[in-house]
Amino acid sequence: MSIDRRDFLKGALGSGALLASSATVEARENNPMPSEAVGLLFDSTLCVGCKACVAACKEVNGMPPEFSTQDQLWDTPIDLSGKTLNVIKFYKQGTGETRNSETDGFAFMKNSCMHCADPSCVSACPAKAMTKDPVTGVVSYNKDACIGCRYCVAACPFGVPRFEYDKAIPQISKCQLCRHRMKDGKYAACAEVCPTGATLFGKVKDLKVEAKRRLALKPGEETSFPRGNLTTRDQVPHTAPAATYVQHLYGDKEVGGTQVLKLSAVPFEKLGMPTLPERSYAATSETLQHTLYSGMALPIAFLGVLSFLAKRTTKDNDGDDHTAPDDKKQGGSDV
Ligand code: SF4
Ligand code: SF4
Ligand code: SF4
Repeated sequence: MSIDRRDFLKGALGSGALLASSATVEARENNPMPSEAVGLLFDSTLCVGCKACVAACKEVNGMPPEFSTQDQLWDTPIDLSGKTLNVIKFYKQGTGETRNSETDGFAFMKNSCMHCADPSCVSACPAKAMTKDPVTGVVSYNKDACIGCRYCVAACPFGVPRFEYDKAIPQISKCQLCRHRMKDGKYAACAEVCPTGATLFGKVKDLKVEAKRRLALKPGEETSFPRGNLTTRDQVPHTAPAATYVQHLYGDKEVGGTQVLKLSAVPFEKLGMPTLPERSYAATSETLQHTLYSGMALPIAFLGVLSFLAKRTTKDNDGDDHTAPDDKKQGGSDV
């Protein structure tokens, strides 16, 4: 299903006008995150762009390499896809000389499912193929229940779910926080292999405490950063000088909160992360559904409109170079 920009904007205007004209709309609140929810803290200031997390994600999820180079020697994904659940993108501005600097600098951003507290993919799915675990909060996909409508693709404000167009029996593809490893006492492979602790696994409540500790650090202060699993502290910490953080924990409030949280020294919109409201799109669209419409079509279209506009806002901010150093040689990678 391709959704054209004109249709989205027409839908946005129509849905917005209907919402504004209804004085009796009972707003559905954001669904809360489970108290024991698990997730990831990605700290862009610690990421060295090694892509070990990309390779590990492929290995534990049995995903094939993806080639963006002529020689086809290396796995070189340039975006999320049916073959790639996790990708590292590169930001570069000006001379690109200074790490973690918005001006004349460079930085990295990890993209994968954010495991939203109140996920619009779950709200939009008419077949209950997308579900949120009530304990861990992991947002999972059930291929057997999926009817291939791709509403989740249109609804996600982060552009995460991908449809496997190249397969005879296509499925939706997205990170499920390595839930298949959790039953064996393991955790997210991307966090397990990260050499610097840039990707850290843990309970969201603990990750938030750790993130706030980092936000309070004095720039340049020699700091110990936990690696691997924050709960078990199973790895020797990484030591590095603290960067000058943007004072914003991305995912703490966006669309009702996400279980993947992000820190950065470069503004998030420059790293391709959309600027989003605190109210979840699911709450907004279900309010419409329950108060204005008896059917599903318009609320789902409205979810698509909201996510389209979020993605467009990101693109509009996208004046900088987001090409990975090795990808640049090989064809380029846009955030
Ligand atoms: S493994 Fe860690 S340091 Fe390497 S690219 Fe991934 S997040 Fe960055
Ligand atoms: S990021 Fe997108 S796919 Fe992931 S839980 Fe949120 S809405 Fe669903
Ligand atoms: S949690 Fe697992 S599936 Fe998700 S990005 Fe990390 S390695 Fe990949």
